[in-house]
Amino acid sequence: MGDNRSVVFLDPEPEPVAHAAPITASYNDRIRPLLDAIDRLRNLMVMKEGIQLPTIVVVGDQSSGKSSVLESLAGIDLPRGQGICTRVPLIMRLQDNPGADCPELYLEFNGKVVHTDEDNISEAINDATDEIAGSGKGISNAPLTLVVKKDGVPDLTMVDLPGITRVPVHGQPENIYEQISEMIMEYIRPEESIILNVLSATVDFSTCESIRMSQMVDKTGKRTLAVVTKADKAPEGLLEKVTADDVNIGLGYVCVRNRIGDETYEEARQEEANLFDTHPLLCKIDKSIVGVPVLAQKLTQIQATIMAKCLPEIVKKINDKLNANVAELKRLPKILSSVAEAMTAFMQILGSAKESLRKILIRGEFDEYPEEKNMHCTARLVEKLNEFSNELQNCPENDPRNNFLLEELDVLEEAKGIGLPNFLPRSAFLTLLQRKVKGISSKPPSFVARVWDYIEGVVIRVLMHHSENYPQLQSSTRRAASNLINKTKEKAKDRMMEVVEMERLTDYTCNPKYMLEWNNLMSQQNTFMDAINSWQRPMNIDLVGIGVVDVANLRDRKEQIQEAFDLKMRITAYWKIVLGRFVDSMALHLLFDVKNLVNSEMEAEIVGELIGPNTGGGIERMLEEAPSVAAKRDKLNRSIRLLRESAAVVAKIMDRIDCGDCTD
Ligand code: GDP
Ligand code: MG
Repeated sequence: MGDNRSVVFLDPEPEPVAHAAPITASYNDRIRPLLDAIDRLRNLMVMKEGIQLPTIVVVGDQSSGKSSVLESLAGIDLPRGQGICTRVPLIMRLQDNPGADCPELYLEFNGKVVHTDEDNISEAINDATDEIAGSGKGISNAPLTLVVKKDGVPDLTMVDLPGITRVPVHGQPENIYEQISEMIMEYIRPEESIILNVLSATVDFSTCESIRMSQMVDKTGKRTLAVVTKADKAPEGLLEKVTADDVNIGLGYVCVRNRIGDETYEEARQEEANLFDTHPLLCKIDKSIVGVPVLAQKLTQIQATIMAKCLPEIVKKINDKLNANVAELKRLPKILSSVAEAMTAFMQILGSAKESLRKILIRGEFDEYPEEKNMHCTARLVEKLNEFSNELQNCPENDPRNNFLLEELDVLEEAKGIGLPNFLPRSAFLTLLQRKVKGISSKPPSFVARVWDYIEGVVIRVLMHHSENYPQLQSSTRRAASNLINKTKEKAKDRMMEVVEMERLTDYTCNPKYMLEWNNLMSQQNTFMDAINSWQRPMNIDLVGIGVVDVANLRDRKEQIQEAFDLKMRITAYWKIVLGRFVDSMALHLLFDVKNLVNSEMEAEIVGELIGPNTGGGIERMLEEAPSVAAKRDKLNRSIRLLRESAAVVAKIMDRIDCGDCTD
């Protein structure tokens, strides 16, 4: 849209205008089609599609004069009374109808149109409200539209909402305050909404509930316009109040005096004009911010501006939404008519699920789940393996500093036999090794269980995603996957227990690191013995590769201390090899199992579950479309129809605007 087209945008201080300034015909010509288009979109309920329309929303505390302001703008009587009369959102569409001698009024709600006239409008609104929200005092979100076509009314569409009340009156639900504020917030939250805040001159603005609410969604007030009613009742200090602007009203104030008693609307406008011309205090207020005609003119200008501003965005949103819905409809499954077709569809689902699983579990490609860390399996699996490795390494029972050499001394004591003293008995080493292996023996199987629980979650998630259009397949698919993974898990656990058992029985490695490490550790033996024998009797000593260890209580057990030291260093060096082997074999087996599962076993298991000999026709069930899919198809079709209609409405208006531009 060219800038030259936009109407002065939200100018808080427009040019002063005379009372009842005539809105020029050309201005009307340009705005009217826009307004009609937006109103048609509103009628089509594009809001249901999450597309916000530019809307002027009237808010105000109870008895602030909301209805009176709307009446003044429309020149008709609206329901008034004690408590809340406005119990549903009332969309008021005012349309100037020059030359018409008789106004045309009608209500639209619940899909019907009810014609009425000026004398019966209040009653008609009340009846419609009862029909929508029940005859009690409850409120409803379903809107009621009132169309007023009348000579001289401004072209405006506004939404009147129930007034905010803190205290429920008799017969009102307890949470009426929450209900109403929720409704108001829903209308004023969108950036496209203009908030018309109705304030009574008789109150301190900063105490108004409606100010508090509009400030929550529009802090700077850039889309809030204030109407100050009852200027006649509280003229003192009004000028100061609107000039001080303590409550951040970005679009400015308009002070008005509404109709009082039995005055006609013409009389009321005359009285208002007189009041602001002659009252000693009120006449000081700038004429550009007083009177209902000024309000009407400001509102029409603001409305034109927001519509022109929002329209391109609306067009884009309608098209985006339309495209997305059409694409989604295409993705919905075709209705299947033969077992062969069903079989093909089923094999396609399996194929695509398999491909997704290969990507996330094996190849590490996450394009299908970019935001979901949990589905980035290759990364998560290596994280889990690292955790496993840390868990093994940091196992407190296996800290070499604990009971340093005491255990070794005990074991050596019991391994004594008839033989030469300078041989280190192998049985002592094996005893120590077996104790250590036993200490961690529960960890590998429990890690297997954990890791496969995680994989199960991922596999089922992927399978469910790919079969979502055939809910009738999902329970057996899920069952098959669960069964298979359970089997795999049990097998893996058994295997890890075997690995543990092997480590318990045999001490062997061809890894040269063992000898390297042992030599390094043993090189500290002299330092250690010095500390034991030193006359300074240190309490502890720091050994590289072991840490700080107590030596005080070793001095009275010197007999086999050298052998014990050697034994300790062997087991320490060897234990590192053992732990490394646990983690490595875990990793190798895990990937082996995952690959088998994804590449072959899963498909066989699911096919078996669905079309095996003892599973009453799983595939045939695909021939009936699931109700949830049928409902989704319906909803998409409805939504697409609505969006197409909306797109046509805006396309027409955009054409006209463009043509308007050419002739400008
Ligand atoms: P609502 O609850 O916000 O819709 O408030 P109403 O429009 O029903 O007005 C509440 C009361 O204030 C009614 O008795 C109106 O007649 C009165 N009122 C509204 N505007 C004015 C005004 O400008 N001057 C005077 N004197 N009374 C007004
Ligand atoms: Mg009211």
